[in-house]
Amino acid sequence: MKFPAEPFRIKVVEPIKTTTAEQRESLIKEAGYNIFLLPADSIYIDLLTDSGTSAMSDNQWAGLMVGDESYAGSKNYYHFESVVKEIFGYKHIIPTHQGRVAENLLFSTILKPEFVVPNNIHFDTTRANIEYHKAKALDCVIDEAMDTDLEHPFKGNIDIDKLRRIIIDQGPEKIPIIMITITNNSGGGQPVSMANIRQVSELARKYNIPLIFDACRFAENCYFIKEREEGYQNKSVKEIAAELFSYGDGCTMSAKKDGLVNIGGFLAVNDDGLARKITNMLILIEGFPTYGGLAGRDLEAISRGLIEVLDENYLRFRINQTRYLGEMLIQSGIPIIKPVGGHAVYINAKKFLPHIPQSEFPGQAIVVELYRRSGIRAVEIGSLMFAYKDAKTGHTVYPELELVRLAIPRRVYTSMHIQYVAEAVHQIYNERDNICGYKIEYEADFLRHFTARLRPINGNN
Ligand SMILES: *Cc1c(COP(=O)(O)O)cnc(C)c1O
Repeated sequence: MKFPAEPFRIKVVEPIKTTTAEQRESLIKEAGYNIFLLPADSIYIDLLTDSGTSAMSDNQWAGLMVGDESYAGSKNYYHFESVVKEIFGYKHIIPTHQGRVAENLLFSTILKPEFVVPNNIHFDTTRANIEYHKAKALDCVIDEAMDTDLEHPFKGNIDIDKLRRIIIDQGPEKIPIIMITITNNSGGGQPVSMANIRQVSELARKYNIPLIFDACRFAENCYFIKEREEGYQNKSVKEIAAELFSYGDGCTMSAKKDGLVNIGGFLAVNDDGLARKITNMLILIEGFPTYGGLAGRDLEAISRGLIEVLDENYLRFRINQTRYLGEMLIQSGIPIIKPVGGHAVYINAKKFLPHIPQSEFPGQAIVVELYRRSGIRAVEIGSLMFAYKDAKTGHTVYPELELVRLAIPRRVYTSMHIQYVAEAVHQIYNERDNICGYKIEYEADFLRHFTARLRPINGNN
Protein backbone atom coordinates (compact mmCIF):
# COMPACT_ATOMS: atom_id res chain seq x y z
CA MET A 1 0.00 0.00 0.00
CA LYS A 2 1.33 3.43 -0.94
CA PHE A 3 -0.42 5.12 1.98
CA PRO A 4 -0.51 2.96 5.12
CA ALA A 5 -3.92 2.48 6.78
CA GLU A 6 -4.50 3.68 10.34
CA PRO A 7 -2.26 1.81 12.81
CA PHE A 8 -4.97 2.07 15.47
CA ARG A 9 -8.62 1.19 15.82
CA ILE A 10 -11.46 3.19 17.31
CA LYS A 11 -12.48 2.54 20.91
CA VAL A 12 -14.49 5.70 21.67
CA VAL A 13 -16.35 7.84 19.15
CA GLU A 14 -17.25 11.51 19.20
CA PRO A 15 -20.26 12.31 16.98
CA ILE A 16 -19.82 15.40 14.81
CA LYS A 17 -22.75 17.77 14.31
CA THR A 18 -23.60 18.68 10.73
CA THR A 19 -24.90 22.08 9.65
CA THR A 20 -26.74 23.37 6.60
CA ALA A 21 -25.25 25.85 4.13
CA GLU A 22 -27.69 28.53 5.38
CA GLN A 23 -26.63 28.01 9.00
CA ARG A 24 -22.96 28.29 8.04
CA GLU A 25 -23.66 31.42 6.01
CA SER A 26 -25.07 33.23 9.01
CA LEU A 27 -22.51 31.79 11.45
CA ILE A 28 -19.54 32.99 9.38
CA LYS A 29 -21.08 36.41 8.96
CA GLU A 30 -21.64 36.71 12.71
CA ALA A 31 -18.03 35.66 13.23
CA GLY A 32 -16.83 38.62 11.16
CA TYR A 33 -15.53 36.18 8.53
CA ASN A 34 -12.93 35.08 11.03
CA ILE A 35 -12.90 31.32 11.60
CA PHE A 36 -11.26 31.83 15.03
CA LEU A 37 -14.58 33.34 16.14
CA LEU A 38 -16.75 30.38 15.06
CA PRO A 39 -18.26 28.00 17.62
CA ALA A 40 -16.35 24.74 17.15
CA ASP A 41 -19.50 22.62 17.21
CA SER A 42 -20.57 24.26 13.96
CA ILE A 43 -17.58 22.69 12.18
CA TYR A 44 -17.60 19.32 10.44
CA ILE A 45 -13.87 18.79 9.93
CA ASP A 46 -11.61 21.05 11.94
CA LEU A 47 -8.23 21.58 10.32
CA LEU A 48 -7.61 24.87 12.10
CA THR A 49 -4.60 23.43 13.84
CA ASP A 50 -2.80 20.27 14.81
CA SER A 51 -2.12 21.93 18.17
CA GLY A 52 -3.80 20.41 21.21
CA THR A 53 -6.20 18.52 18.94
CA SER A 54 -4.58 15.07 19.07
CA ALA A 55 -6.55 12.02 20.11
CA MET A 56 -4.92 10.47 23.15
CA SER A 57 -4.39 6.72 23.31
CA ASP A 58 -5.99 4.35 25.80
CA ASN A 59 -2.60 4.24 27.50
CA GLN A 60 -2.56 8.03 27.91
CA TRP A 61 -6.13 8.09 29.25
CA ALA A 62 -5.13 5.38 31.71
CA GLY A 63 -2.21 7.62 32.70
CA LEU A 64 -4.63 10.33 33.76
CA MET A 65 -5.94 7.97 36.44
CA VAL A 66 -2.52 7.68 38.04
CA GLY A 67 -2.16 11.44 38.29
CA ASP A 68 -0.53 12.48 41.55
CA GLU A 69 -1.77 15.94 42.38
CA SER A 70 0.72 16.71 45.15
CA TYR A 71 1.67 20.37 45.08
CA ALA A 72 5.37 19.53 45.23
CA GLY A 73 7.27 16.45 44.06
CA SER A 74 4.51 14.66 42.14
CA LYS A 75 5.65 11.26 40.90
CA ASN A 76 4.32 12.22 37.47
CA TYR A 77 6.83 15.07 37.34
CA TYR A 78 9.72 12.68 37.97
CA HIS A 79 8.44 10.40 35.23
CA PHE A 80 8.02 13.37 32.89
CA GLU A 81 11.49 14.65 33.71
CA SER A 82 13.10 11.27 33.05
CA VAL A 83 11.27 10.76 29.73
CA VAL A 84 12.15 14.26 28.50
CA LYS A 85 15.79 13.85 29.57
CA GLU A 86 16.00 10.51 27.85
CA ILE A 87 14.67 11.82 24.53
CA PHE A 88 16.00 15.39 24.49
CA GLY A 89 19.11 14.96 26.61
CA TYR A 90 19.01 18.37 28.33
CA LYS A 91 19.77 18.93 31.99
CA HIS A 92 16.96 21.13 33.34
CA ILE A 93 13.35 20.34 32.45
CA ILE A 94 10.84 23.09 33.21
CA PRO A 95 7.15 22.23 32.63
CA THR A 96 4.80 24.92 31.32
CA HIS A 97 1.17 24.81 30.29
CA GLN A 98 1.92 25.74 26.66
CA GLY A 99 4.82 26.33 24.31
CA ARG A 100 4.42 30.09 24.32
CA VAL A 101 4.96 30.21 28.08
CA ALA A 102 8.28 28.43 27.54
CA GLU A 103 9.03 31.17 24.98
CA ASN A 104 7.90 33.93 27.33
CA LEU A 105 10.05 32.58 30.19
CA LEU A 106 13.08 32.22 27.95
CA PHE A 107 12.79 35.58 26.20
CA SER A 108 11.95 37.62 29.27
CA THR A 109 15.11 36.20 30.85
CA ILE A 110 17.56 36.67 27.97
CA LEU A 111 16.29 39.56 25.81
CA LYS A 112 17.06 43.26 25.91
CA PRO A 113 15.79 45.91 23.48
CA GLU A 114 17.67 45.81 20.15
CA PHE A 115 18.73 42.21 20.65
CA VAL A 116 18.32 39.93 17.66
CA VAL A 117 17.08 36.33 17.49
CA PRO A 118 17.63 34.48 14.20
CA ASN A 119 15.51 31.43 13.30
CA ASN A 120 14.65 29.60 10.08
CA ILE A 121 11.19 31.18 10.28
CA HIS A 122 9.81 32.36 13.60
CA PHE A 123 6.39 30.99 14.49
CA ASP A 124 3.84 33.76 15.23
CA THR A 125 3.89 33.39 19.04
CA THR A 126 7.70 33.26 18.99
CA ARG A 127 7.95 36.41 16.91
CA ALA A 128 5.37 38.18 19.10
CA ASN A 129 7.19 37.18 22.31
CA ILE A 130 10.46 38.55 20.89
CA GLU A 131 8.99 41.77 19.54
CA TYR A 132 7.17 42.35 22.82
CA HIS A 133 10.64 42.84 24.35
CA LYS A 134 11.55 45.29 21.57
CA ALA A 135 14.01 42.82 20.13
CA LYS A 136 14.18 41.68 16.50
CA ALA A 137 13.04 38.30 15.21
CA LEU A 138 14.98 37.60 12.00
CA ASP A 139 14.18 34.79 9.57
CA CYS A 140 17.02 33.20 7.65
CA VAL A 141 15.55 30.17 5.96
CA ILE A 142 17.09 29.08 2.63
CA ASP A 143 15.73 30.91 -0.44
CA GLU A 144 14.38 27.61 -1.80
CA ALA A 145 11.74 27.69 0.98
CA MET A 146 10.00 30.58 -0.78
CA ASP A 147 9.70 28.69 -4.07
CA THR A 148 6.51 26.78 -3.40
CA ASP A 149 6.90 24.49 -6.42
CA LEU A 150 10.46 23.46 -5.80
CA GLU A 151 10.94 19.90 -4.57
CA HIS A 152 13.66 20.11 -1.93
CA PRO A 153 13.96 17.52 0.83
CA PHE A 154 14.81 20.00 3.61
CA LYS A 155 13.12 23.29 2.89
CA GLY A 156 13.24 24.19 6.59
CA ASN A 157 17.03 24.57 6.46
CA ILE A 158 18.75 27.73 7.62
CA ASP A 159 20.81 29.66 5.06
CA ILE A 160 24.21 29.49 6.76
CA ASP A 161 25.57 32.54 4.88
CA LYS A 162 22.55 34.64 5.89
CA LEU A 163 22.99 33.54 9.49
CA ARG A 164 26.73 34.30 9.44
CA ARG A 165 26.05 37.74 7.99
CA ILE A 166 23.51 38.48 10.74
CA ILE A 167 26.00 37.45 13.42
CA ILE A 168 28.78 39.58 11.90
CA ASP A 169 26.58 42.60 11.13
CA GLN A 170 24.75 42.68 14.47
CA GLY A 171 27.62 41.42 16.60
CA PRO A 172 27.40 38.15 18.53
CA GLU A 173 26.92 40.03 21.81
CA LYS A 174 23.51 41.16 20.54
CA ILE A 175 22.40 37.63 19.74
CA PRO A 176 21.48 35.81 22.97
CA ILE A 177 20.41 32.62 21.15
CA ILE A 178 19.98 31.15 17.69
CA MET A 179 16.77 29.17 17.14
CA ILE A 180 15.81 26.42 14.72
CA THR A 181 12.15 25.49 14.37
CA ILE A 182 11.66 21.77 13.66
CA THR A 183 9.69 21.28 11.53
CA ASN A 184 9.43 24.79 10.13
CA ASN A 185 5.75 25.50 10.76
CA SER A 186 5.42 28.93 9.13
CA GLY A 187 7.36 27.77 6.07
CA GLY A 188 5.07 24.83 5.36
CA GLY A 189 5.93 22.24 8.01
CA GLN A 190 9.17 21.53 6.20
CA PRO A 191 11.96 19.60 7.90
CA VAL A 192 15.50 20.68 8.71
CA SER A 193 18.32 18.29 7.87
CA MET A 194 20.80 16.93 10.38
CA ALA A 195 23.63 18.31 8.23
CA ASN A 196 22.15 21.80 8.42
CA ILE A 197 21.64 21.55 12.17
CA ARG A 198 25.26 20.46 12.53
CA GLN A 199 26.43 23.48 10.51
CA VAL A 200 24.30 25.93 12.50
CA SER A 201 25.59 24.35 15.69
CA GLU A 202 29.23 24.78 14.60
CA LEU A 203 28.63 28.42 13.75
CA ALA A 204 26.78 29.03 17.03
CA ARG A 205 29.59 27.42 19.03
CA LYS A 206 32.23 29.42 17.16
CA TYR A 207 30.57 32.63 18.37
CA ASN A 208 29.59 31.19 21.72
CA ILE A 209 25.86 31.64 21.09
CA PRO A 210 23.51 28.98 22.52
CA LEU A 211 21.39 27.06 20.00
CA ILE A 212 17.79 26.51 21.09
CA PHE A 213 15.33 24.34 19.18
CA ASP A 214 11.68 25.16 18.82
CA ALA A 215 10.99 21.43 19.06
CA CYS A 216 7.19 21.24 18.69
CA ARG A 217 7.31 18.71 15.82
CA PHE A 218 10.66 17.10 16.53
CA ALA A 219 9.45 13.53 15.91
CA GLU A 220 8.02 14.43 12.51
CA ASN A 221 11.28 16.20 11.63
CA CYS A 222 13.30 13.16 12.71
CA TYR A 223 11.08 10.86 10.65
CA PHE A 224 11.80 12.99 7.57
CA ILE A 225 15.53 12.74 8.30
CA LYS A 226 15.17 8.97 8.45
CA GLU A 227 13.27 8.97 5.14
CA ARG A 228 15.40 11.49 3.25
CA GLU A 229 18.88 12.01 4.65
CA GLU A 230 21.67 9.65 3.75
CA GLY A 231 23.00 7.61 6.63
CA TYR A 232 19.85 7.65 8.77
CA GLN A 233 17.76 4.88 7.20
CA ASN A 234 18.91 2.30 9.71
CA LYS A 235 18.72 4.51 12.79
CA SER A 236 15.65 4.67 14.99
CA VAL A 237 13.77 7.97 15.21
CA LYS A 238 14.74 8.04 18.87
CA GLU A 239 18.43 7.77 18.00
CA ILE A 240 18.03 10.49 15.38
CA ALA A 241 16.37 12.76 17.95
CA ALA A 242 19.19 12.14 20.42
CA GLU A 243 21.80 13.18 17.84
CA LEU A 244 19.77 16.20 16.73
CA PHE A 245 19.29 17.61 20.23
CA SER A 246 22.94 16.98 21.10
CA TYR A 247 23.87 19.82 18.71
CA GLY A 248 21.87 22.32 20.77
CA ASP A 249 21.75 23.77 24.27
CA GLY A 250 18.06 23.51 24.94
CA CYS A 251 14.57 23.69 23.48
CA THR A 252 11.14 25.16 23.83
CA MET A 253 8.35 22.66 23.31
CA SER A 254 4.62 22.73 22.88
CA ALA A 255 3.51 19.23 23.90
CA LYS A 256 0.24 20.05 22.11
CA LYS A 257 1.96 18.92 18.92
CA ASP A 258 4.35 15.97 19.14
CA GLY A 259 3.54 15.43 22.82
CA LEU A 260 0.19 13.98 21.61
CA VAL A 261 -1.73 15.79 24.35
CA ASN A 262 -4.31 18.54 24.54
CA ILE A 263 -2.35 20.86 26.84
CA GLY A 264 1.23 21.19 28.02
CA GLY A 265 4.74 22.19 27.12
CA PHE A 266 8.19 22.65 28.54
CA LEU A 267 11.46 24.46 28.36
CA ALA A 268 14.68 22.46 28.55
CA VAL A 269 18.13 24.00 28.98
CA ASN A 270 21.60 22.89 29.95
CA ASP A 271 22.76 26.17 31.49
CA ASP A 272 22.44 26.10 35.30
CA GLY A 273 22.28 29.88 35.78
CA LEU A 274 19.68 30.32 33.08
CA ALA A 275 17.59 27.46 34.51
CA ARG A 276 17.68 29.05 37.96
CA LYS A 277 16.48 32.44 36.70
CA ILE A 278 13.77 30.84 34.59
CA THR A 279 12.59 28.63 37.44
CA ASN A 280 12.16 31.67 39.69
CA MET A 281 10.12 33.34 36.99
CA LEU A 282 8.14 30.10 36.52
CA ILE A 283 7.07 30.18 40.16
CA LEU A 284 5.87 33.73 39.65
CA ILE A 285 3.78 33.14 36.53
CA GLU A 286 3.04 29.39 36.18
CA GLY A 287 3.52 27.41 39.35
CA PHE A 288 5.89 25.31 41.42
CA PRO A 289 8.70 23.72 39.33
CA THR A 290 7.28 20.18 39.60
CA TYR A 291 3.98 21.08 37.97
CA GLY A 292 4.51 24.35 36.07
CA GLY A 293 0.89 25.20 35.38
CA LEU A 294 -0.20 21.61 34.70
CA ALA A 295 -2.00 18.95 36.69
CA GLY A 296 0.04 15.87 37.60
CA ARG A 297 -2.19 13.79 35.34
CA ASP A 298 -1.38 16.05 32.39
CA LEU A 299 2.33 15.52 32.96
CA GLU A 300 1.70 11.77 32.89
CA ALA A 301 -0.19 12.05 29.58
CA ILE A 302 2.71 14.03 28.08
CA SER A 303 5.29 11.46 29.23
CA ARG A 304 3.30 8.66 27.61
CA GLY A 305 2.63 10.77 24.50
CA LEU A 306 6.33 11.51 24.00
CA ILE A 307 7.07 7.78 24.05
CA GLU A 308 4.19 6.98 21.66
CA VAL A 309 5.12 9.70 19.17
CA LEU A 310 8.42 7.92 18.51
CA ASP A 311 6.60 4.76 17.37
CA GLU A 312 7.58 4.53 13.71
CA ASN A 313 4.33 2.85 12.63
CA TYR A 314 2.55 5.88 13.99
CA LEU A 315 4.95 8.31 12.28
CA ARG A 316 4.77 6.46 8.95
CA PHE A 317 0.98 6.75 9.02
CA ARG A 318 1.06 10.34 10.21
CA ILE A 319 3.43 11.66 7.56
CA ASN A 320 1.68 9.68 4.83
CA GLN A 321 -1.84 10.75 5.80
CA THR A 322 -0.76 14.36 5.29
CA ARG A 323 0.98 13.40 2.04
CA TYR A 324 -2.19 11.60 0.88
CA LEU A 325 -4.19 14.82 1.15
CA GLY A 326 -1.44 16.73 -0.66
CA GLU A 327 -1.25 14.25 -3.51
CA MET A 328 -5.02 14.28 -4.05
CA LEU A 329 -4.90 18.09 -4.30
CA ILE A 330 -1.93 18.02 -6.69
CA GLN A 331 -3.84 15.59 -8.89
CA SER A 332 -6.71 18.11 -9.07
CA GLY A 333 -4.26 20.79 -10.22
CA ILE A 334 -4.43 22.76 -6.97
CA PRO A 335 -1.31 24.82 -6.17
CA ILE A 336 0.18 23.61 -2.87
CA ILE A 337 3.60 23.84 -1.27
CA LYS A 338 5.80 21.02 -2.45
CA PRO A 339 6.93 18.73 -1.07
CA VAL A 340 4.08 18.16 1.40
CA GLY A 341 5.19 18.94 4.97
CA GLY A 342 4.63 16.92 8.13
CA HIS A 343 1.55 18.27 9.85
CA ALA A 344 -0.33 20.16 7.19
CA VAL A 345 -0.97 20.81 3.54
CA TYR A 346 -0.48 24.43 2.51
CA ILE A 347 -2.43 25.87 -0.39
CA ASN A 348 -0.69 28.64 -2.31
CA ALA A 349 -3.41 31.29 -2.20
CA LYS A 350 -1.68 33.72 -4.57
CA LYS A 351 -1.83 31.08 -7.30
CA PHE A 352 -5.25 29.75 -6.29
CA LEU A 353 -6.84 33.23 -6.49
CA PRO A 354 -4.57 35.32 -8.75
CA HIS A 355 -7.34 37.92 -9.18
CA ILE A 356 -7.29 38.92 -5.47
CA PRO A 357 -4.35 41.13 -4.34
CA GLN A 358 -2.64 40.43 -1.00
CA SER A 359 -4.19 43.58 0.44
CA GLU A 360 -7.56 41.82 0.09
CA PHE A 361 -6.55 38.61 1.85
CA PRO A 362 -6.83 35.87 -0.79
CA GLY A 363 -5.90 33.22 1.80
CA GLN A 364 -8.74 34.29 4.07
CA ALA A 365 -11.10 34.23 1.09
CA ILE A 366 -10.32 30.53 0.53
CA VAL A 367 -10.72 29.79 4.24
CA VAL A 368 -14.16 31.43 4.35
CA GLU A 369 -15.27 29.60 1.20
CA LEU A 370 -14.20 26.21 2.55
CA TYR A 371 -16.25 26.71 5.68
CA ARG A 372 -19.23 28.10 3.88
CA ARG A 373 -19.33 25.26 1.34
CA SER A 374 -18.25 22.24 3.32
CA GLY A 375 -18.04 23.00 7.03
CA ILE A 376 -14.26 22.61 6.96
CA ARG A 377 -12.15 24.97 9.04
CA ALA A 378 -8.71 25.84 7.68
CA VAL A 379 -6.50 28.80 8.60
CA GLU A 380 -4.87 31.63 6.71
CA ILE A 381 -1.12 32.02 7.12
CA GLY A 382 -0.49 35.09 5.04
CA SER A 383 -1.25 38.78 5.01
CA LEU A 384 -3.94 38.65 7.72
CA MET A 385 -1.46 36.94 10.04
CA PHE A 386 1.80 38.62 9.06
CA ALA A 387 1.40 41.89 7.11
CA TYR A 388 2.52 44.92 9.11
CA LYS A 389 2.99 48.65 8.72
CA ASP A 390 6.60 49.73 8.41
CA ALA A 391 7.13 52.32 11.14
CA LYS A 392 9.45 54.46 8.98
CA THR A 393 7.71 54.46 5.60
CA GLY A 394 4.11 53.87 6.73
CA HIS A 395 3.76 51.28 3.95
CA THR A 396 2.25 47.87 4.57
CA VAL A 397 4.79 45.08 4.19
CA TYR A 398 3.28 41.82 2.94
CA PRO A 399 4.68 38.35 3.60
CA GLU A 400 6.24 36.60 0.64
CA LEU A 401 4.04 33.55 1.05
CA GLU A 402 0.26 33.74 1.12
CA LEU A 403 -0.94 30.38 2.40
CA VAL A 404 -3.97 28.46 3.58
CA ARG A 405 -3.06 25.72 6.01
CA LEU A 406 -5.00 22.49 6.28
CA ALA A 407 -3.52 21.15 9.50
CA ILE A 408 -4.16 17.51 10.28
CA PRO A 409 -4.90 16.67 13.93
CA ARG A 410 -2.99 13.58 15.07
CA ARG A 411 -4.92 10.27 15.11
CA VAL A 412 -8.29 12.08 14.79
CA TYR A 413 -9.58 11.85 11.23
CA THR A 414 -9.84 8.80 9.01
CA SER A 415 -8.66 8.60 5.43
CA MET A 416 -12.29 9.04 4.31
CA HIS A 417 -12.46 12.38 6.12
CA ILE A 418 -9.29 13.33 4.31
CA GLN A 419 -10.88 12.43 0.96
CA TYR A 420 -13.87 14.62 1.81
CA VAL A 421 -11.50 17.54 2.39
CA ALA A 422 -9.73 16.96 -0.94
CA GLU A 423 -13.07 16.93 -2.79
CA ALA A 424 -14.24 20.11 -1.05
CA VAL A 425 -11.08 22.01 -2.01
CA HIS A 426 -11.36 20.74 -5.57
CA GLN A 427 -14.94 21.99 -5.78
CA ILE A 428 -14.11 25.57 -4.75
CA TYR A 429 -11.08 25.53 -7.03
CA ASN A 430 -13.38 24.82 -9.97
CA GLU A 431 -15.45 27.87 -9.04
CA ARG A 432 -12.61 30.13 -7.88
CA ASP A 433 -13.43 32.99 -10.27
CA ASN A 434 -16.52 33.82 -8.19
CA ILE A 435 -14.56 34.30 -4.94
CA CYS A 436 -13.93 37.90 -3.81
CA GLY A 437 -11.50 39.56 -1.39
CA TYR A 438 -11.99 40.91 2.16
CA LYS A 439 -11.44 44.12 4.06
CA ILE A 440 -10.60 44.48 7.77
CA GLU A 441 -13.21 46.17 9.97
CA TYR A 442 -11.46 45.69 13.32
CA GLU A 443 -7.91 44.66 14.23
CA ALA A 444 -5.86 44.41 17.44
CA ASP A 445 -2.30 45.76 17.78
CA PHE A 446 -0.60 42.36 17.68
CA LEU A 447 -1.59 38.81 16.71
CA ARG A 448 -4.51 40.46 14.95
CA HIS A 449 -5.62 37.35 13.05
CA PHE A 450 -7.09 35.85 16.24
CA THR A 451 -9.65 38.60 16.77
CA ALA A 452 -9.92 40.59 13.52
CA ARG A 453 -13.34 41.16 11.97
CA LEU A 454 -13.68 41.37 8.21
CA ARG A 455 -16.23 41.90 5.50
CA PRO A 456 -16.41 40.82 1.86
CA ILE A 457 -15.43 43.50 -0.63
CA ASN A 458 -18.24 42.88 -3.07
CA GLY A 459 -21.71 41.50 -2.88
CA ASN A 460 -21.56 38.19 -4.75
CA ASN A 461 -19.67 36.43 -1.99
C1 LIG B 1 2.42 25.87 18.50
C2 LIG B 1 3.75 26.43 18.34
C3 LIG B 1 4.31 27.25 19.32
C4 LIG B 1 3.54 27.72 20.55
O1 LIG B 1 3.03 26.69 21.32
P1 LIG B 1 1.63 26.81 22.15
O2 LIG B 1 1.55 25.55 22.90
O3 LIG B 1 0.55 27.00 21.14
O4 LIG B 1 1.75 28.00 23.03
C5 LIG B 1 5.61 27.67 19.12
N1 LIG B 1 6.30 27.34 18.02
C6 LIG B 1 5.79 26.55 17.05
C7 LIG B 1 6.62 26.18 15.86
C8 LIG B 1 4.50 26.07 17.17
O5 LIG B 1 4.00 25.30 16.21
